[in-house]
This record gives sequence, structure tokens and C-alpha cells, in this order.
Amino acid sequence: MVGFFIVWVFIANDKIQDMNENDQLHQFFFENTPVRGNLTHLKSTYQLALEHQDLPLVIKKALGELMAASVLLTSTLKMDGAMVLQIQTKGQLKLLVVECDSELQIRATAKWDGDIAEAANFLDLIKEGHCIITLDTKDNTPYQGIVPIEGESIAVMLENYMLRSQQIDTKLWLSCDGHSAAGLLLQKLPEEVGQDVDTWNRVTTLADTVTDKELQTESAEQLLTKLFHEEDVRLFEKKLTRFHCKCSHERVSNMLKTLGEDEVNSILAEQKKIEINCDFCNKQYRFDAVDTATLFADKAVLKNNKSVH
Ligand SMILES: [Zn+2]
Repeated sequence: MVGFFIVWVFIANDKIQDMNENDQLHQFFFENTPVRGNLTHLKSTYQLALEHQDLPLVIKKALGELMAASVLLTSTLKMDGAMVLQIQTKGQLKLLVVECDSELQIRATAKWDGDIAEAANFLDLIKEGHCIITLDTKDNTPYQGIVPIEGESIAVMLENYMLRSQQIDTKLWLSCDGHSAAGLLLQKLPEEVGQDVDTWNRVTTLADTVTDKELQTESAEQLLTKLFHEEDVRLFEKKLTRFHCKCSHERVSNMLKTLGEDEVNSILAEQKKIEINCDFCNKQYRFDAVDTATLFADKAVLKNNKSVH
């Protein structure tokens, strides 16, 4: 009995360790320079976010790269809210969407038409599309930036976005093999007096040597030491990432309210009940005639009061 208990504790700790090693963000900067960086590894976060979705591999990999990018970019902002990264096209692939909030809680999904071949080229799928970044903060009205897709990879596309829309020099290295995702970001902030201005060119050239395998498998300490062993890098305390879908009965109810009572009643007349599945986590929300009557009851009271006065 004691032996069993010890084994169980060992496995449990091992699992927690595995999750922590893989689902985290490391922030760092190069001492006395205007250059900072972020590094992330997503495993459980990535797998749990997509486990209820039947996605072609090319889309699964693209969503992984976007998820890593969303963690890296969200962490460069001092905000309380969420960043939504979207790629929208008029072609077969309609939409890729990834949302990451300031607590590094992430969700992701995609929409497309017909069958997408396993060997499909991602760049062909997003031709003539747009990249849309929305910052939904708690204090301010949402900010949205839209730019045409430019570049030969998601990383280059987002670098162009950051330069065109935010005027910030940003370099990204993203990797996803369909099981886990990883990413590295370097960003150049405005220089201060006495800072080494050559660092940017030097460290981005060094980071360009990183391989997908190194990015995916090496710990933050190993990778930063390997890439920048002659630089003075200061690494901050890591932060954990996790999958979290913020869908709720209340949000779906509000969506039905915006559809309007007549529309909801006509769906009910046809189908007897309304079933809505969350695109992100596949959770199902069901409403019958009694539920929808309750939804619109507040409005009815309001109407009655109006007629009285
Ligand atoms: Zn959901």
C-alpha cells in the first residue's frame, strides 16, 4: 500500500513537472541594451485547445504557430485584457483565430470549406487574406489593426504587421509539429543613452541560427545559453500558459438575445430546441421553449412597464 502511494506521488509530480516545463513563457532582456525577448513552449496548452477539433494537419500546425505568437506578443504589452489574432481569407480557408489573455489563457479554432489535403501549402490557403489583430482591454475601447498578408511564413507576416501597424522592430521564430508549439521573439525598444545599439543586429543574426528542433526541445536556459553565450542575458521568472475557453451559458444567452425573439421562436418552431456548440471547446448549450421564454421575459416586463407609463 505504501509502495503504491509513493509511486502515485512520483507519477503525479512528474506530470506536473512535464506540464510546467512545456507550458510556459520566459521573458528576458539583454543587459544595457534596448533589446528584449520572450520564449514560449506550449504542449498541454496546445493539445487541450485543439483536442475537440478535427483539424487538417496544415491548419493544426498554423494554429500552433499562431498560439505561440499570441503568447509572445501578448507578453510584450502591458494590458489587462485579451489579444485576438485572426487570419481571414476569401478562399477555402475562411478563418484562423487565436485568443490569448493577459493571464496567458489561450483558445483557438478555424473555419474552412470542403476537404483540405494533408499536403496543402499553407501559403496557398491564405493568399489574398488579411491579418487582423484585436486588443480587447478592460479599460479602453477595443483596438483593431488590419493589414494584408505579406511574407512567406506566419512569423514574417506578424513581423510585417508589427512594423507597419505598431512601428516596432520585432523578429519571430515559430515552430509547430502538430504535437507541440514553440516560439522566440526579439523586440527592439527605443534606445536610451549609453545603450549598445549594435546588439539588435548581432542577436537577431544569432537567433536566426535556431532550428525547429532546438526551439521545440531545449529548455529556456539551454537555448538562450546556446544562442547568446557571449551576451549578458537576464532571464525573468517564468509564467505558465494554459488552455481556457471563456464560453458560458450567459454569453450564449446574450448571443440569442441579439438574434431577437422572433428569430429564436422561428428556430424553435422548426427544431423544437436550440443546440449551440462552442467552436473553440465543443461544449454544447441547449435551450428549449421554457429557457428561451425566460431569456426574453425581462424584455417583456420592460415592454409592459413602458405601456403602463
Ligand atoms: Zn467554449
